Amino acid sequence: MRKVSFPYMGTSYIPFKKLLTSFGNEVVIPPKPTEETISFGTKFAPEFACYPFKIVLGTFVQVLEAGADTLVSSGGVGPCRAGLYTTLQEKILKDLGYEFEMITLEPPGRHFRDLLYNIKKLINAPLTWRDYINITKFVWKQLVLLDKVERLSHKVRPVEVKKGEATKVYKKCVDMIASAEKYGDLREIERECELLYDNIEKRDYEPIKIGIVGEIYVLLEPSSNLEIEEMLGDLGVYVERSMFLSDYTISNAVMDLFHMAGERDVKKTAAPYFKEMCGGHGRESVGNAILFAKRGFDGVIQLSPFTCIPEIVAKSILPTVCRDHKIGFLTISLDEQTGKEGLRTRIEAFVDLLRAKRRRTKSFAVKPQVAKEMA
Ligand code: SF4
Repeated sequence: MRKVSFPYMGTSYIPFKKLLTSFGNEVVIPPKPTEETISFGTKFAPEFACYPFKIVLGTFVQVLEAGADTLVSSGGVGPCRAGLYTTLQEKILKDLGYEFEMITLEPPGRHFRDLLYNIKKLINAPLTWRDYINITKFVWKQLVLLDKVERLSHKVRPVEVKKGEATKVYKKCVDMIASAEKYGDLREIERECELLYDNIEKRDYEPIKIGIVGEIYVLLEPSSNLEIEEMLGDLGVYVERSMFLSDYTISNAVMDLFHMAGERDVKKTAAPYFKEMCGGHGRESVGNAILFAKRGFDGVIQLSPFTCIPEIVAKSILPTVCRDHKIGFLTISLDEQTGKEGLRTRIEAFVDLLRAKRRRTKSFAVKPQVAKEMA
């Protein structure tokens, strides 16, 4: 039996674990990245490798030490370095003396045969078509539900009366979803999670709204962005992230398979500023910033791993985009040197500026009305 593992990214380990065990593999669940993970990554990765590369490499060292013999990771196309990640990581790890097989799952649009060949290696149980349908249905529901309960935490956290309640409920919901065994369980859990969020006491307050854009790994893995969403929520800010794993899977796996452009609206929106594909999610960062501005958000935060080329390109365009659309902008470069307290100081200052701007805008907006009433 294969002992399979994969990179840790948000709560995605829950559906991945279910999928791989249903396919007849033993799964070594990757640990949540810690300082130890990052220290392995920085020790063995080239100095200028991007931050997600180092975290994933560190995770691979930990899971290989825990007995994994197969590593599964995604590939990529385009000018960013993601397409070379697994080749380089495999070489580094094999030079360190680890014995394992690296399985790279490439986007289906351009590597369909390779993808099927690699998926077959991971199917080590006799399964019928009905089994495949049931597994897919369950795993997809789990993925969608995990995204839903996270979105709910973003909505409730800034208005909760008792600090920390939304985070507590979110963790409870994740545990419940992870423990589900049947599709029917997930439906019940969904209702229970909605109820748990409904029962949180909320204050009547209109929060500042901030959209978060940037590179996929640092967007989806809280330990890599120093839990910025929770930090902002605790400051009374409603946060909306431009990317969730279920949406990403639809645009990069399902739509890619049928050669349809994923995130078409986002790319079209970015076009006046940024027409070319630069790899990663640089163009999407620009398009999503504009979409947030059009929806009345107060500010945009870009999360960019240090040395990430697509986000460096986006960073040079985003200040103009945000000025044109009258929305606040903050860029945060993340690497192993970024400290939580320094980050907190920066986002507190940013939120204060956005609040002051909103107050100013509101007072300008009420003035004509006041004048009318006085007349
Ligand atoms: S998008 Fe950026 S961080 Fe991600 S692999 Fe490409 S260069 Fe590295």
